[in-house]
Amino acid sequence: MANQTLGLSTQLYDYLLSVSLREPEILTKLRQETAQHPMARMQIAPEQGQFMALLVQLIAAKKTLEIGVFTGYSSLAVALALPKDGKVVACDVSEEYTAIARRYWQQAGVDRKIDLHIAPALDTLDGLIAAGEGDSFDFAFIDADKSNYDGYYERALQLVRPGGLIAIDNVLWFGQVADPQVQDNRTKKIRALNQKLHEDERINLSLVPIADGLTLAMKHI
Ligand code: CA
Repeated sequence: MANQTLGLSTQLYDYLLSVSLREPEILTKLRQETAQHPMARMQIAPEQGQFMALLVQLIAAKKTLEIGVFTGYSSLAVALALPKDGKVVACDVSEEYTAIARRYWQQAGVDRKIDLHIAPALDTLDGLIAAGEGDSFDFAFIDADKSNYDGYYERALQLVRPGGLIAIDNVLWFGQVADPQVQDNRTKKIRALNQKLHEDERINLSLVPIADGLTLAMKHI
């Protein structure tokens, strides 16, 4: 499962949540509603949402990017952590999934902070770059189709400011990245990006084994 932290026993995972999770009620409701959804495994883990909210506050982010919204858990966690004048530029292709997200953004009173673009994210990101928004985002979260991960990363790297942070989800891919028997296209794309980031001198790097693996890449100052 992607929506809990890999490699922990259920007992230890439950303990971790019992002593650290501070999930706002609105996020709990969204998580419970999304758990009924056939694509529920696309939702991030609650401890990961809390971790990302902490990161956003640590770097005093105001302007953030989200690539892959699904039903909105991560964008809502981030939007709640942003100051009043904070902004999330959110990219997704699904009207159906993001209708759930919109409903919760509204209920939480953060819908004005979130600017949703329903279009292929590569087009939205290229549009932002063409509009001169390079080097202007503080934080970016990449959690969309794995076949385009490298393209999302390259564009996010242009869009975040020096010292800005890119978080990339599912980099451990249910453990399949480490299994040489697994050679499907998505697994290979994630492996290739992980390998590339290891050598990438444009960033400072940490792969955090939270949830399904979250890479943190800080753009060099
Ligand atoms: Ca994910």
